[in-house]
Amino acid sequence: MKETILIVEDEKDIVKMLDYNLKKEGYKTLVAHDGEDALDMANTKLLDLILLDLMLPGVDGLEVCKELKSERKTASIPVIMLTAKSQESDKIVGLELGADDYVTKPFSPRELIARIKAVLRRGKEKEKLPEVIKIGGLGLDFSKIEVTVKNKPVELTSKEFELLKTLIKAKGRVLSRDYLLDNIWGFDHAMEIQTRTVDVHIRTLRKKLKSAAKYIVTVKNYGYRFEYED
Ligand code: CA
Repeated sequence: MKETILIVEDEKDIVKMLDYNLKKEGYKTLVAHDGEDALDMANTKLLDLILLDLMLPGVDGLEVCKELKSERKTASIPVIMLTAKSQESDKIVGLELGADDYVTKPFSPRELIARIKAVLRRGKEKEKLPEVIKIGGLGLDFSKIEVTVKNKPVELTSKEFELLKTLIKAKGRVLSRDYLLDNIWGFDHAMEIQTRTVDVHIRTLRKKLKSAAKYIVTVKNYGYRFEYED
């Protein structure tokens, strides 16, 4: 699965360079030219990493970082700051605010890609769900692929199980039908598999989950999210 990286930078030449090198490395890219755009995208798109320039018009990079890391919905998205040498103190503030790493301009694409890979790898380790989780009356055992509702076992198909797992993993973020389709049915799904396949599986999943079905929330015209209670 291709990871999606959001590039937050106002300088067009740098955006172009980053976009080219990230795509070459096999990542999907999105671009935000200012801080507000970046926050908007972080809240609506499913991102694996954010490359955040600190010098932005309007809401600056540090403010963006602070907002991202203080919202539960976006706090887990790794952030790599792009800084200038003269911004040494900002770099420290950024790391204190929760940024995962920084790269000082000018940097080589190779150096940046290496940092990205390291941060993504660390993120995956952290994101690993515990083998057994309990959310209200819903219990999941990932090693045994078992689901229970109020301690009674529920028989799910492998796709239904994957769907439930993917939604839980997103920790409250909204997942689009297309995203679910790509991730659960794969890029090579047959032509006849349409996005309504997702709806059909959600419907059967909800039926089986009974009282725990309330955790799966429909986001109209877009997709689904898992109402996650800590
Ligand atoms: Ca800039």
